[in-house]
Amino acid sequence: MHAKGGIATAMTERIAIYPGSFDPPTNGHLDIVGRAAAMFDRVVVAVGLNRAKRTFFSDDDRVALMREACARWTNVEVRGFDTLTVDFARAAGARWIIRGIRALSDFEFEFEMANMNRRLAPGIEMVFLMTAPEYLFLSASRVKELAAFGADVSDMVPPNVAARLRADGKKSGLRTGATEPTD
Ligand code: ADP
Repeated sequence: MHAKGGIATAMTERIAIYPGSFDPPTNGHLDIVGRAAAMFDRVVVAVGLNRAKRTFFSDDDRVALMREACARWTNVEVRGFDTLTVDFARAAGARWIIRGIRALSDFEFEFEMANMNRRLAPGIEMVFLMTAPEYLFLSASRVKELAAFGADVSDMVPPNVAARLRADGKKSGLRTGATEPTD
């Protein structure tokens, strides 16, 4: 009886995933999470693991940092994934994939990905949220670069990430993250 009710709820629930590298999570990412959480019943933030793209923070760290930063939203959960995004979406029961768009430079890449995803999974819709203007020039790679030089990034990232960057800065290991391509 209970199980039946559960399945019915799951089928009607509007679930979206928000995939990304989150290396590390920034306030721009969290702005998108918060807005998505207000639009959908449930949002699964999907942290890409074992990517071709080399990340500064480990898989476990990126999941943990994002999980802490998202704890304020009761309908948001954070999970790692290492499959095709559309396959993860299907497995999560999601019919929407959220992406954030900052500028024209994001557009071309996202447009290509969206068309690919549409071919792979016609039933899944991509949803693009425009960045809030204050986060237009905020990227994870810029944050890493600034932190590596000891700049204060506490207004660009959630408090747990700021604390982590400060701790890593002291160990001065962050410089290696400064030359990564824009993310
Ligand atoms: P990926 O490596 O998959 O692009 P990112 O962690 O760089 O992952 O970004 C995840 C998503 O968040 C992407 O859709 C990206 O465009 C979006 N995003 C990144 N920074 C911002 C920002 N400052 N404002 C809005 N969206 C952003």
